[in-house]
Amino acid sequence: MNEQSTMDGRCIRGSQAHYKALVESAAAAILVIDEQGIILDANPFTHTLLGYAQKQLVGQDIECLMPPEHQGKHGQYLRKYLSTGEPNVIGTGRRVTARHREGHLVPVHLAVSEVWMGERREFIGVMSDLRALTQAQTSVQHERNRLKTIIDAIGNPVFVRELGGHYALANRACLQAVKADHVSQLAEAFGLALPDGMRDTLNALEHQLTVDGEPVHVDVTLRDGRTFKLAKTLIHHLAGEPYAIVTVAYDATPLLQAMQKAEHANQAKSDFLSAMSHELRTPLNSVLGYAQLLLKSPAPTLAESQRQYVEQIHQSGRHLLALINDVLDLAKIEAGKITLNPIWYPMHAVVNDAIQTLSPLAERQKVSLQNCLPTELEGELYVDPTRFKQVLINLLSNAVKYNHPQGRVWIDAYEHDGNLTMSVNDTGIGIADDQLDGLFEPFNRLVAEDSLIEGAGVGLAVTYQLVSQMQGEIRVASQMGKGSAFSVTFPYRAEPQHFETAVTEPSDTSIRLTQPHRVLYIDQDSHQQRLVSDCFEDWPLLTLHHAHDFSLAEVMAYSLAPSLFIINGNELVRMPAHWTCLVENKPLIILEAEGREYHIVSTQLKRLQQPVSSSALAAAIQSLLEDKE
Ligand code: ADP
Repeated sequence: MNEQSTMDGRCIRGSQAHYKALVESAAAAILVIDEQGIILDANPFTHTLLGYAQKQLVGQDIECLMPPEHQGKHGQYLRKYLSTGEPNVIGTGRRVTARHREGHLVPVHLAVSEVWMGERREFIGVMSDLRALTQAQTSVQHERNRLKTIIDAIGNPVFVRELGGHYALANRACLQAVKADHVSQLAEAFGLALPDGMRDTLNALEHQLTVDGEPVHVDVTLRDGRTFKLAKTLIHHLAGEPYAIVTVAYDATPLLQAMQKAEHANQAKSDFLSAMSHELRTPLNSVLGYAQLLLKSPAPTLAESQRQYVEQIHQSGRHLLALINDVLDLAKIEAGKITLNPIWYPMHAVVNDAIQTLSPLAERQKVSLQNCLPTELEGELYVDPTRFKQVLINLLSNAVKYNHPQGRVWIDAYEHDGNLTMSVNDTGIGIADDQLDGLFEPFNRLVAEDSLIEGAGVGLAVTYQLVSQMQGEIRVASQMGKGSAFSVTFPYRAEPQHFETAVTEPSDTSIRLTQPHRVLYIDQDSHQQRLVSDCFEDWPLLTLHHAHDFSLAEVMAYSLAPSLFIINGNELVRMPAHWTCLVENKPLIILEAEGREYHIVSTQLKRLQQPVSSSALAAAIQSLLEDKE
């Protein structure tokens, strides 16, 4: 029995010691109060939490730890509990604020329990420190407020939809866009705004987003016609699980409308230019044709001064025609009315041809013009040959025009990654860095505006468009006073597979005739006209007379008695029946478009494929006219 009581006594002392240790080392303030609210005991942490040492608290009313608004009410709470047994903080826990010894309030969690010491009832209050938690919650709240303010300030609609379909957040712009007052109305508002079937499309896209995680972009046109561009991105929990999708929208309607307007305006401008150029070209061609007739007509002869006037009319007319042709080209390209037919085409053939064409101009300007293409580059470029030649001619003629006497112009090239970059280089006046931006703008002549050099500022704009439409690239490098290099890049293959005929074509462009000859050329196609007239610049014994239609050509044919006719095959459908007799026994060259052959009867006929090269034309003229010598 004695042993038992000794054991019991030991146990009791043991557990008292345990509790004491627990209370003293607890990271919570523990206070004992009596039924009157007088503090009977307090553990050491009370000092850490509320600034009071145990001695300072024992005997004090618990109200000294309560915030001012609760002071005086403790007795009331306690009495209520004692009389009704209804718990307030007793038996339950709650978040309250306690007053620190220095007067400030400390957020705590307070749990109070009741203990009976025989007849006496006491209360034990445990206060856990919530300062860190409260601070963290305050900063989360602060962050949330900041985020909300920022999201609301964004003019673009933004909303968050949880994967379950619940709309969790929407900014002001989003609510306004679908005329909703609150995020809870979004589902309904979207239902009204989206056209039939769109919700399903969006759901499918969102599903895809949750599968592969890649942000998705989609354009949505609402029932009212507005178009929004949406970007959708997944939002993940910290653990990595996706739980919602944020959508940022952008109302593209004004931009699309402006683009549409601009496109219409551009189309109207191009149509106008194209129509005007056509209207101008037809009478101008007549002016030029009749001016040529006057100049060549044998009798009655013009007085010298009259001849000079007509010469002036002819020269100015040609200049005007060149300008109109450029404008027409540009308008056509911009209106999408030009179709380019890129094919694999031997590079050397076009380059030689372009150089031949520009040689007379270079000679007149005393500029040397060289082909420095590496000989091993004998492959083919993927280009529309006619338009590529036009590009080269534009670049070469600029390189010659904006040069000095004794200057140099040369073409070189290098192959890289299945492409070929060809450069037209010059030692000319160069272009200032701050002018480069406007270089490809139509009608922008940069500094040449005030110079005597002829031009309209359209050539490079046309060149740029042609190169882009052939999927090529054009670049320029220039140094003021030193010169410029314009380079174009196109797909290239080193092994030629087509155009064996073209490759073996004679590259000789000279014509060995001893007598002067007149050539009458009938063609409406301004572009082709230019290529052919350029070729004739090289042959001083041949005079090219151009007629854009058969009625003018007929007058010219009778008054000029040409030795040779050149007709664009496309014109043959308009050829009056009696012309068959007119050309039947005459040397005739037909310029044929690829893949088309025209039926015509002539004893001395040569057919040449467009684009016509100077060498092929020279060979044809030589063989047709040498018998007439
Ligand atoms: P144009 O020669 O008819 O004026 P372009 O469109 O061909 O029109 O060229 C636009 C302008 O760019 C020219 O007026 C000239 O000022 C400048 N330019 C073009 N090529 C060269 C070049 N090789 N060297 C110096 N300036 C050039």
